[in-house]
Amino acid sequence: MTHTRPVWAEISRYRLIANYRLLRGLAGAETELLAVVKANAYGHGTTACANLLAAEGARWFGVTCVDEGTSLRSSLRQLADSDAPHSSRILVMSGIWKDEAETLIPHGLTPVAWEPWHLEWLESVTRRQNIAPEGFPVYLEIDTGMSRQGVRPENLDHLLRRFTAGSSLRLEGVMTHFHSPEELGASATQDQTGKFVSVIDTIYERGLKPEILSAGNSATLLAQKETDTITNIARRYGMQLLIRPGLSLYGYAPRFTGAAQPSAAASLQPVLAWKTRIVSMRTIVAGESAGYNATFRASRPTHLALLPVGYADGLNRLLSNKGGVLIRGKRAPIAGRISMDQTVIDVTEIPGAEIGDEAVLIGQQGGETITAYDLADLAGTIPYETLCGISARVPRVMVD
Ligand SMILES: *Cc1c(COP(=O)(O)O)cnc(C)c1O
Repeated sequence: MTHTRPVWAEISRYRLIANYRLLRGLAGAETELLAVVKANAYGHGTTACANLLAAEGARWFGVTCVDEGTSLRSSLRQLADSDAPHSSRILVMSGIWKDEAETLIPHGLTPVAWEPWHLEWLESVTRRQNIAPEGFPVYLEIDTGMSRQGVRPENLDHLLRRFTAGSSLRLEGVMTHFHSPEELGASATQDQTGKFVSVIDTIYERGLKPEILSAGNSATLLAQKETDTITNIARRYGMQLLIRPGLSLYGYAPRFTGAAQPSAAASLQPVLAWKTRIVSMRTIVAGESAGYNATFRASRPTHLALLPVGYADGLNRLLSNKGGVLIRGKRAPIAGRISMDQTVIDVTEIPGAEIGDEAVLIGQQGGETITAYDLADLAGTIPYETLCGISARVPRVMVD
């Protein structure tokens, strides 16, 4: 993508692939990974990331909704026309809403369902559209404790009846989502796994034979212990295990508690670097202020530099007077309130700082690093939000 405004995010191909290979190794040969590329691949650009991962052998992708799925499908098709297999599967993870059911089928998207009406909508469109005789594949999500989506175990039977003989739907997979996989000392994931197993028992007792069991995210994969547990469950039923890492693909581990950080977490490499340049400078005297509502006031002659990036680009306004950027390998603090499109920084301590200097918002410069964690901590949020909050106005540029 061409860009003229000096604000951009560099996406490292090398690091994305290295992270993927690391996670593949952790998953083991028996287990498949579903690469979660929802929310524009956590802000990294779905098309470019998914195509790289597909070329690296990824066959499963996770998106949140049908619109994300159709746009991913068309970019994967372009790749399929050249050199990669056409067989990518795209799981729409957050359920469906009415017309979305209609659009799924021609785009080869696979829905996660848990409400009776999800199955009704799917039944009615699959009866009207031509589908394979073995039935249209559906994933059933089980609510094992997240209380967000998924069928509660006590309502399971009602749903399973819709997959019995004569249905146009086929129960291909069963999935659940863990709420606290990064709490290593806690029993929450074990409790959820126990509920999940008893639901799978029931499903098999009813004569259904889903082939795929999907559970676990980045934390599960990095922590390994629960990966082993769910691998064993899948093995017991002869099911294929599908683990769903997102954040770790992009080089960040969730923050673990209760035990030492799993060692694999240290090998992840952040994929995204967010950069801009100094585009204007001025010097103010003691007593003068900078920015809206004069929340920064100079206590000495102060050199200020202007960066053409603001909260409309995803630079959280809570970083006003708190965050910093790297200039000439040193940290320059944000001076005053972040504006919609612009931010002022204090470069008094950075000798030689001048117009055109590169400023790093996330990434490395010299020996210094700013991570999405640093920004997230200062803004009281998590790196997930920091990364997917980098707005569409910031062009993503693939590097190395
Ligand atoms: C987002 C998401 C994931 C990925 O979680 P990470 O913590 O980013 O690895 C996995 N499964 C579901 C259902 C999700 O919504």
